[in-house]
Amino acid sequence: ERLVIAVDGPSGSGKSSVSKETARRLDAVYLDTGAMYRAVTWHALDAGTDLSDAAAVADAVRAADLEISTDPDLESVKIHGTDVTEAIREPFVSEAVSAVATNLEARAELVRRQREIIAANPRIVAEGRDITTVVAPDADARILLTASEEARMRRRGLQLGGTQSAQDLQRQVVARDAKDSTVSSFLIASDGVATVDSSDLDFEETVQAVLAAVTA
Ligand code: C5P
Repeated sequence: ERLVIAVDGPSGSGKSSVSKETARRLDAVYLDTGAMYRAVTWHALDAGTDLSDAAAVADAVRAADLEISTDPDLESVKIHGTDVTEAIREPFVSEAVSAVATNLEARAELVRRQREIIAANPRIVAEGRDITTVVAPDADARILLTASEEARMRRRGLQLGGTQSAQDLQRQVVARDAKDSTVSSFLIASDGVATVDSSDLDFEETVQAVLAAVTA
């Protein structure tokens, strides 16, 4: 039986780990759309593409030979044959990714590819920023996973009033979410999207809350 689950949320909401575990429990595959944005950003940087040149960025995304694992137990992202699974998590990628995320032609191309992956997989949990609203608005379950800023920082091991570098990182995360939210409104649930606030939930409780929203 076909089952498409869309999960959106800001960074640090626990989206990735919760979506992966939800996929395992439902015998579904898992799609990390953020990894796709990160991989094409990594490649644009590697190829020396001028990130301020919107047409060049869009061309690079359209030409990207991107392979992403949908196995919740196997994280793997390759672009033009290069394994970038680890590299795309580096801060220099996080800092540059909004050049791709705010590029409407690049988004259109990635959304098209994400829809293809969803269509090819009868049971899938797809997570990102615009899955509930743009990529799969007709999903069987649509969930916005939120958490207070404090809880999101706590999960990243950052304490309020911590060291200078922790505060800098915190500012970067908040700034990236603010930038992202100008493109897709993942900070407030759209009509028909269930909100799961994980601020006061542990991992298992969050998974249970998501599973409950799926069967609701
Ligand atoms: O989820 P993650 O932090 O890996 O996503 C990296 C970036 O990709 C986000 O900051 C956002 O700019 C972009 N993104 C997006 N739409 C998605 C998923 C990610 O714009 N569906």
